[in-house]
Amino acid sequence: MKKKLLMLTVAGGLLASSAAIQLPFVEAVGNGPNYGGHETVRTAILHTYEEMVAFLKEQDAKQEQMELEVIGQSIKGRDLYLVKYIKNPDHPTILFLTQQHGNEQLTTEGALEFIKHLGTRKMKDVLNHVNVLIVPMLNPDGAMGDVDFPLDDYIASGDRHLTRYNAVGADLNRDHVNKQYPETKALHNNVLRKYHIDYMIDLHHQGANSERDGKLVSGSILYPTSPNADEEVVYRSKQLGAVIFDAIEPTGWGHLGKYVGGSSEAIGRNGIAVEYGISTLLFEMRGMSDHYIGSYVIGQKSNGYLIRQTVVALDAAVRAIADGSIHEKDVSFWDTLPYQERRSEQ
Ligand SMILES: [Zn+2]
Repeated sequence: MKKKLLMLTVAGGLLASSAAIQLPFVEAVGNGPNYGGHETVRTAILHTYEEMVAFLKEQDAKQEQMELEVIGQSIKGRDLYLVKYIKNPDHPTILFLTQQHGNEQLTTEGALEFIKHLGTRKMKDVLNHVNVLIVPMLNPDGAMGDVDFPLDDYIASGDRHLTRYNAVGADLNRDHVNKQYPETKALHNNVLRKYHIDYMIDLHHQGANSERDGKLVSGSILYPTSPNADEEVVYRSKQLGAVIFDAIEPTGWGHLGKYVGGSSEAIGRNGIAVEYGISTLLFEMRGMSDHYIGSYVIGQKSNGYLIRQTVVALDAAVRAIADGSIHEKDVSFWDTLPYQERRSEQ
């Protein structure tokens, strides 16, 4: 595969500058139609960690119902944040988690949009019936490319690269049993063990070329698949999945497949369901913000609908829990929803 050459060492002196480094774009083979090869994948349009923190503080100052808390620090010392809307601890509670994988940032962009949305008047009554917890960007070191390994072959352009791994190259979404890294420790000790959480959506991005029924998907979903997960917990996860599916599919741009996922409890979707009895749902958005494999990355023309997809999903989940309609959800669609398949490269 031909890849755009990004010379990070040359660009090193410009890292602090916001000036985008324009290099000739060599078309990557086998990317989805929205990547196209004519589109530059730019990281500059994404919130940096610092911009995200500024946004959260600004919203915290504006929104009466919102509380902002630091739950720990990343390996490189970045504060990890929890956004809380807790009207009554006895109300049902949902947690949204984004960017365990640092190169999967549109989920965070969507979560920040959603935080703004929660501050609007029309959400006030909804928040009288449901508690909402949001942990945006659990892996800020990976998101900022501030890691102890080289990212020279990553393809996005801009003043930083984004990587899946934390600063020491660990995959946080394989650390939910051992909880070895400060990021996963913070999530478990100061969120999962501290609040009574009923539901969780773990937001990720997948490659850009998966399809269902011959059409590229906008994302994929999956419930806990560990054999140790309680049947009732899994059933409620499937109901949460039904809420999301019914909200996304009719949009016109939304098309979801069933994610092909493992049963390891080191994965959040499984481990968190087993350890805490939380009904979890994995929601994977199409295409990553940066990667060294071209077909995993998606161009910025898709940013709008993918951010929208996060906002629509989170809004639907919160409303369905608030009005109790989640309990009426039929889970039988899961039996006929096909697993997504990887489109063969041309
Ligand atoms: Zn991920």
